[in-house]
Amino acid sequence: MRRFTCSRLYYPVDMGGTPIKPRTKVASATKSRQSRRIWGLLAEINNYSAVRPNSYDFYIKQEADILTRDEFQKLTQKVVILDGATGSNLMAQGMPRGICTEQWVIDHKDVIQKLQKAYMEAGSQIIYAPTFGGNRINLEKHGLEDRIREINRTLVSYSRETAGTRCYVAGDITTSGQFITSDGDYTFETAYEMYQEQIRILKDAGVDLIAAETMINIEETLAAVDAARSVCDLPIMCTVTVEADGSIFSGGNAAEAAAALESAGADAVGINCSVGPDQLVSVVRSIREAVSIPVIAKPNAGMPAIDDQGNAVYSMTPSDFARHMKVLVENGASIIGGCCGTTPDYIRELVHIL
Ligand SMILES: [Zn+2]
Repeated sequence: MRRFTCSRLYYPVDMGGTPIKPRTKVASATKSRQSRRIWGLLAEINNYSAVRPNSYDFYIKQEADILTRDEFQKLTQKVVILDGATGSNLMAQGMPRGICTEQWVIDHKDVIQKLQKAYMEAGSQIIYAPTFGGNRINLEKHGLEDRIREINRTLVSYSRETAGTRCYVAGDITTSGQFITSDGDYTFETAYEMYQEQIRILKDAGVDLIAAETMINIEETLAAVDAARSVCDLPIMCTVTVEADGSIFSGGNAAEAAAALESAGADAVGINCSVGPDQLVSVVRSIREAVSIPVIAKPNAGMPAIDDQGNAVYSMTPSDFARHMKVLVENGASIIGGCCGTTPDYIRELVHIL
């Protein structure tokens, strides 16, 4: 069992997009910076995405490819394109804040499939099933825990139907929104069991791999990797969200997390959400130097500004995003996509520039 020292400063992520006040008082200087990040996280839910090789060597999926862990290492020696944001795009399509995203997506199959199809047409080779908040602890907040199997299976089936044989489908998982302690309600074992349950369902539903994203705590991410390794042989990609200096919300930094996760058996590590790609060059380089597995970069479309209605507005254009993402590839990222604020246009531009 691995233990990390984490500070008590922690912002739970409300999957429906409602901001939750921090439990710990923070200095106001860091507070505004962190609250901007919170807005980025809150707009977060998932993301989605064909392939057009040019100057970079792209992986091209063959119809009969089955994604073993060995196969994953081979394919990721080339640049692999992920999808872009899901949450911010669902909100743009009318998903209200504060509701259970997973239930809303189940009720709006056409919206998610249209978005995922657009990502595939833009060049995504791995799309994330909209199962982000489909763990028992999050579903309990909405009284939906008894439907955990049905919800995850239905959401995977939507993505599988869209992906066909053109694209891989990742089972998406994230933080419970709780902080791991050794003596409280949420221990390493609780997290481990929560992830085991969801990952087992995702595997049975037919995902090609697991993606743990928007993780904000190293220990909880390790629980997810241990859980994945205990219930399946699927590859698992892990991304944490970081500040521009590489630090993680609850303690530690991206390079430390990456090294620990590689030792635990993660198949690729990196960052998602966070800030814009322009601020992540040294973070990506530090992760690249810390591990021998592929490095993932799935950042936001820049830092969000908050408009009068309280909505997060991302300022980076698709071409600026793609230009900065190319620099991240030059610095060691090989599995790339976008998070909050990105759309299929960002993925198309990214494929175009590489
Ligand atoms: Zn995000």
